[in-house]
Amino acid sequence: MEDKKFYVLPELPYGSKDLEPHISETQLKLHHDKHHLAYVNGANGILERMDRAREAKTDFDQKATLKELSFHIGGHILHSLFWANMAPAEKGGGGKPVGALAKEIEKEFGSFERFKKEFSAAAVGVEGSGWAALAICGQTRRPIIMQVEKHNFNVYPTLRIMLVLDVWEHAYYLDYKNERAKFVEAFWNVVNWAEAERRFEALAK
Ligand code: MN
Repeated sequence: MEDKKFYVLPELPYGSKDLEPHISETQLKLHHDKHHLAYVNGANGILERMDRAREAKTDFDQKATLKELSFHIGGHILHSLFWANMAPAEKGGGGKPVGALAKEIEKEFGSFERFKKEFSAAAVGVEGSGWAALAICGQTRRPIIMQVEKHNFNVYPTLRIMLVLDVWEHAYYLDYKNERAKFVEAFWNVVNWAEAERRFEALAK
């Protein structure tokens, strides 16, 4: 296999205790070191399997393989976005967005408070395991809130994501048990608006 690239688990952009008390060290380490790593390894394992099959000119089950691949790649990409869209309070976590993204949110939702209420409701209301995300539509340039069930996109998303919140139980169960709404509320204390703004500016180019 010459020169094939594989997925890599990114380092957390802060210390594993830095999001406490909102997300505990135990919860964060388990989530990043075990769960996220499993998606990275899962995606790489499937890529290797496909590489081998292509080299040996053998077939593989396209439907099952692509579904499994999308689950793992989706999981890896979403978690990578998620770690970076949080920050400890002393490094700017929490509060409200400023700048162009703040204006865009105000224009779309009427107010930041209304956006927060809608995003929280989207996160709390995800059926089973999944995510809430704030994205920009490439056609209308409007911000749009979406729910992601599990990690599966199947089609790799064309909406550009600025902010995501993981509401799989593995994201909060140690800290909040079955109380997802409490975890969603706590998320607002560690949300990294500077990163969301950076992503917004990058895709506005
Ligand atoms: Mn997760």
